[in-house]
Amino acid sequence: MACYIFVMSAGKKKYDVIVIGGGASGMMAAGRAAERGKSVLLLEKNAAVGKKLDITGGGRCNITNAEFDRHAFAKHYGAAEQFIYSPLSQFGVQDTFDFFSVRGLPLIVEARKRAFPETQKSPDVTRVMKKYLTDSGVVVLTKATVKGLTVVGNRITEAKTSQGTFTAETFVISTGGVSHPETGSTGDGFKWLIELGHSVLPSTPTIVPLKVKESWAKSLAGISLSFMKITFFADGKRAFSKTGKILFTHFGLSGPLILNSASAVAELLKNAEVTATIDMYPDTDFAALERQIIAKMDANKNKDFKNVLAEVVPHGLSKAILELLALPNPNVKAHSVMKEERKELIHLLKGAPLTISGLMGFDRAVISDGGVPLTEVDTRTMRSLKVENLYLTGDVLHINRPSGGYSLQLCWTTGFVAGNSV
Ligand SMILES: Cc1cc2nc3c(=O)[nH]c(=O)nc-3n(C[C@H](O)[C@H](O)[C@H](O)COP(=O)(O)OP(=O)(O)OC[C@H]3O[C@@H](n4cnc5c(N)ncnc54)[C@H](O)[C@@H]3O)c2cc1C
Repeated sequence: MACYIFVMSAGKKKYDVIVIGGGASGMMAAGRAAERGKSVLLLEKNAAVGKKLDITGGGRCNITNAEFDRHAFAKHYGAAEQFIYSPLSQFGVQDTFDFFSVRGLPLIVEARKRAFPETQKSPDVTRVMKKYLTDSGVVVLTKATVKGLTVVGNRITEAKTSQGTFTAETFVISTGGVSHPETGSTGDGFKWLIELGHSVLPSTPTIVPLKVKESWAKSLAGISLSFMKITFFADGKRAFSKTGKILFTHFGLSGPLILNSASAVAELLKNAEVTATIDMYPDTDFAALERQIIAKMDANKNKDFKNVLAEVVPHGLSKAILELLALPNPNVKAHSVMKEERKELIHLLKGAPLTISGLMGFDRAVISDGGVPLTEVDTRTMRSLKVENLYLTGDVLHINRPSGGYSLQLCWTTGFVAGNSV
């Protein structure tokens, strides 16, 4: 209702600030600017703001990461580390905790310091942001697609939209990147930014699931294994290993461990054939695992091998392992399994083989990299160094980061700093 009333009066005046894009960072920028007394118009092409925010963290919204030491936190942003100290000192992790808890949405911390709203519902985060917009007096105009910007000299003067033209003193581009384009992030801002003289680095999906060739892995779709070690090889040569949770999907592999390996795998794929092995018992060496399996099979020697297998391999994997073992007769009793076949089983459990055929696309990516390099932005204010009255926030900036709440913290931080500076 509030939005509708605002819409009626949206075109009648010149605003102090127009924010383009009602995602996490745009809402924070608009709310903060209005809280400081600025007249603010937020233009959003979807029927509602916060469409991507609603699907974050599998619907639970990993809102930030509870690393309260600013230097330790900044290290997660790779090459951007130095650039983000200043914005983080203006709005850091503790500020995110405070911002949401004073608005009735306390945060809880889970494994790997990932913070979620206590309610475990991302729409609650969107609800808080919408209320922030309303309370601070932001005029929100939805179903308003910005088609282009008018530039006079070195200043933007107006935004041309599907609902008319709007003028302002200052503009904030918060149109996001190109991951999950169905949420509205279709890279529109990048086109304007190039026209405005910014460089825009090409986007590639970064935090993204991996595609594999092998059908055994795809047959496990839906199964997740909490403590696995995956080792990647480039043309057969060991590249790197990671340990953590793997989720099998109908196209390959996902889960935090995989998502956070994807950009390194993308680099390997540029020049080599990439394969991988999964060690399902990273804490148990070959000999110890063999002893455990011999003991289990001896204790159950007259049982069907496939039933015994189900008790020794991780839950849900026995069918796939049996297929990979390719025994001449899969219906044998445990006592009939040959020593070589048993050794082959241990090899599979310690190194199930996979061929990585590629990365999933933007439609499955949590984030894409690419966008405006931070060297073209004054990160103390988030003001463009190319256009006098332009500010940039969130995913339009080229900042590599892992999963775990680091993307949204970047949105809260850059959004706040822009809103505080306009
Ligand atoms: C499936 C998924 C899960 C995720 N989970 C997490 C998580 O748990 N934790 C985390 O930290 N990060 C997560 N992320 C990343 C995080 O959601 C993004 O980094 C963040 O939402 C980016 O916010 P933004 O404000 O930069 O842009 P966006 O959220 O992309 O918002 C941009 C807005 O601009 C609007 N827009 C675009 N073009 C125009 C135009 N021409 N005119 C008007 N409006 C326009 C769009 O409709 C959109 O609403 C996830 C991402 C995905 C895809």
